[in-house]
Amino acid sequence: MLLKNIPGQESIKSILRRSVQNSHLAHAQLFDYPAGGGGLAMALAFATYINCENRNEDDSCGVCASCAKMSKLIHPDFHFIFPIATSKKVDGKTSEAFLPLWRSFLLENPYRILPDWLDHIGADNKQGNISVEEARGILKKLSVKAYEGEYKILLIWKPDIMNASSSNAILKILEEPPEKTLFLLVSDQSDKLLTTIISRTQRITIPAFTDKDVRTFLADHQISVGTANQITYLCDGNFSEALKLAKENEDDRSGWFAAWMRSCYKYDVSHLVKLADNYDVMNKERQKGLLEYALRLFRDMLVWTHGAGELLRVPDEELTFVQNFSKSVNFDSLEKMIDQVNTACYHIERNVRAKMVFLDLSLTLAQFFQRR
Ligand SMILES: [Zn+2]
Repeated sequence: MLLKNIPGQESIKSILRRSVQNSHLAHAQLFDYPAGGGGLAMALAFATYINCENRNEDDSCGVCASCAKMSKLIHPDFHFIFPIATSKKVDGKTSEAFLPLWRSFLLENPYRILPDWLDHIGADNKQGNISVEEARGILKKLSVKAYEGEYKILLIWKPDIMNASSSNAILKILEEPPEKTLFLLVSDQSDKLLTTIISRTQRITIPAFTDKDVRTFLADHQISVGTANQITYLCDGNFSEALKLAKENEDDRSGWFAAWMRSCYKYDVSHLVKLADNYDVMNKERQKGLLEYALRLFRDMLVWTHGAGELLRVPDEELTFVQNFSKSVNFDSLEKMIDQVNTACYHIERNVRAKMVFLDLSLTLAQFFQRR
């Protein structure tokens, strides 16, 4: 994770960079951020910047040996403590045993919240916990000298869920920290931390992402502008929420698309009229979003019928549908279908009555299917 990978939050990035450049690193820092915000990502980018062998004024180099290890979260001087719970997927009771899952969780998306993590490790409906043994074990983790970097860095995620004995064990370590060691406490519920812990740390307050940041983030995840606008309005700068909304939107669209295409295939006119009535009452963004989704899938099918299946970005659950669907329309038809959907998009954009556009499109598409 590099600083430039995180949308916005320039003032925080510049504070962090300056602290490294001036060698003013507080030994314990609290990354205090709102749920779904940039705390974890920022701490990862900060640790990468500290360890980078060739950092520049703005960011880590991204290519040195240290950056390469940090990008896979396998740097020997970078340690983690995070909540764990009994899980079907992992046999073990320390965060060490959960490390492979933790790495994949962070590398996939470092903006998620505790329930997302518990879901990821298959510990749904359980509470996460940082045990007192884990907290006491920190010193053992840090007792060896830094292997490669100048500093050893320990990132503690969600110190706010620790009970009194775990908190006190951490507190003891913060009071007498080992040399050349940095503690990054990363918390999205800092109001639950012991005040004695807070007073031992330098607080970095990370604000919620702005709407502009959310749009950048969603664009990076290939979400269309129309959908991104709706999600931005709903998610309040929370990236975890934004991704969930995007997923829901996607699920809902794929079901809708499959039902639509089945009716076209069967030439079920009465059902197509019903779908057109439903379509008519949607707002314009959603109408466009659905047609754009259809366009994307048709294009994927075109690639598929071309025999270049490995290029497909289609998620697994849609892949079978796309494969079967491609068998019932030939290449030329598919190209014509794409033209038709493009024309329909154009008409929707220009406020032609949506019901007419959709019904007309459905009946035209239905002609292209090869029925056996
Ligand atoms: Zn580097």
